[in-house]
Amino acid sequence: MDDKFYVEKFKKLIQCPTVSQDDPENFVRFHKILDETFENVTAKCQKIELGRNVLLYKWSGKNSNKPVVLMAHQDVVPAGGADWKYPPFAAVEEDGKVFGRGTIDCKNTLFATIQAVDELIGEGFVPEQDVYLSYSDCEEISGPGAEMARDYFKSQGIRPEIVVDEGGAIVKKVDKFMSKDAAMVGILEKGYADVKIIARGKGGHSSQPPKHTPIARLAEFVRYVERHSVFKPKMSVPAKAMVLGLADVLKPKYRALAKAAGRLGALTAHVAPKINWHYGAPMFKSTVVFTMCEGATASNVIPQTAWVNANVRVSPVDSVEKCVKKLERIAKKFDCEVELQNHRDASPMADLTGESYKQFVAAVKETYPDVEVVPYYMFGGTDCRTMQEISNTAIRCTPCRMSSEQLSTMHAANENIYVTSLKETVTFFKTFLRKYK
Ligand SMILES: [Zn+2]
Repeated sequence: MDDKFYVEKFKKLIQCPTVSQDDPENFVRFHKILDETFENVTAKCQKIELGRNVLLYKWSGKNSNKPVVLMAHQDVVPAGGADWKYPPFAAVEEDGKVFGRGTIDCKNTLFATIQAVDELIGEGFVPEQDVYLSYSDCEEISGPGAEMARDYFKSQGIRPEIVVDEGGAIVKKVDKFMSKDAAMVGILEKGYADVKIIARGKGGHSSQPPKHTPIARLAEFVRYVERHSVFKPKMSVPAKAMVLGLADVLKPKYRALAKAAGRLGALTAHVAPKINWHYGAPMFKSTVVFTMCEGATASNVIPQTAWVNANVRVSPVDSVEKCVKKLERIAKKFDCEVELQNHRDASPMADLTGESYKQFVAAVKETYPDVEVVPYYMFGGTDCRTMQEISNTAIRCTPCRMSSEQLSTMHAANENIYVTSLKETVTFFKTFLRKYK
């Protein structure tokens, strides 16, 4: 099968605008497209009804004791408001790339997994172990789709040996620094907490303001937190694994420095955010940023209550509890209260010594002999975390080649994928499933 064959199938998925929380009919249509496009899957796999528009397929293997779960999500973020070169749901092909919302987040993952299974079925292959394809309809809005699949597994006493979801990719080398492409395999994700910081007052008419009002106290709090290093930098096990792994893809002249940086844990953690805040801070610290705020509902009213939301990303060496306590101490200074909302600690690190992880890495190396595998410490979140309760090896990586420019189009305008990446990624999943035992 040539690239054209894959592109034509892939385009059908992109052309169906499955925007989360948009028209549910689009998801119904999407399912119909899947049914018609992947006929072998439709004929051979069991579709397990979970509700919503969540999809869970079971492909029965010779054994059921070490099942594999391949995850992706059907939904995409909205494409409006951005300046697209081509309409975001037209799937226009140009210059060896397909443009459209979802091309790298992550209909590419959905396509590669279901296409791999479809082809293997067509070849008469029977997997050694049961294989599940689990596709949520609401990942982008942190909806319950993946949890519904996890709860199904729990109810059936199924413990996946390995779960593979979106996350890292194969990042094409940046010529100046890197000697080869790097497969970034997500092994853990940071924790998350939304903390509402609340200031209260007596309210009143804005024509007779008191000296100190809730919004001013909140502003002082926000300024204090931004100006001070509230959470201390520390080297964590996954951050160290990533630094040392990255050393292997760097040009020889940078390699020794990166190795030393990995070994000099505490010093590196302190210095890196100063050199490069954008990557250094999230890698070695819990971070906080203010994302939402609210005061009075009219312009001439002094609010009785005002609040800001502090979005905290929790490092694996911290905990939500520790971070909230820290914010609480500071909030008190400015006569503010804190209220913990949505939260979770950092995920446990995937078991990198287990057989299933080794098999994943071996399949990456077989498909991409020119690529180095690098453990990837993820700052953001994926649906994969829901499965960690029932699996020791939850990894986040679609081995799909992307440039750093393409990665920056995720959730932005002009999202696009290399045409050649489609076939390569399908080949990867076929290799992995064929050899998995
Ligand atoms: Zn995604």
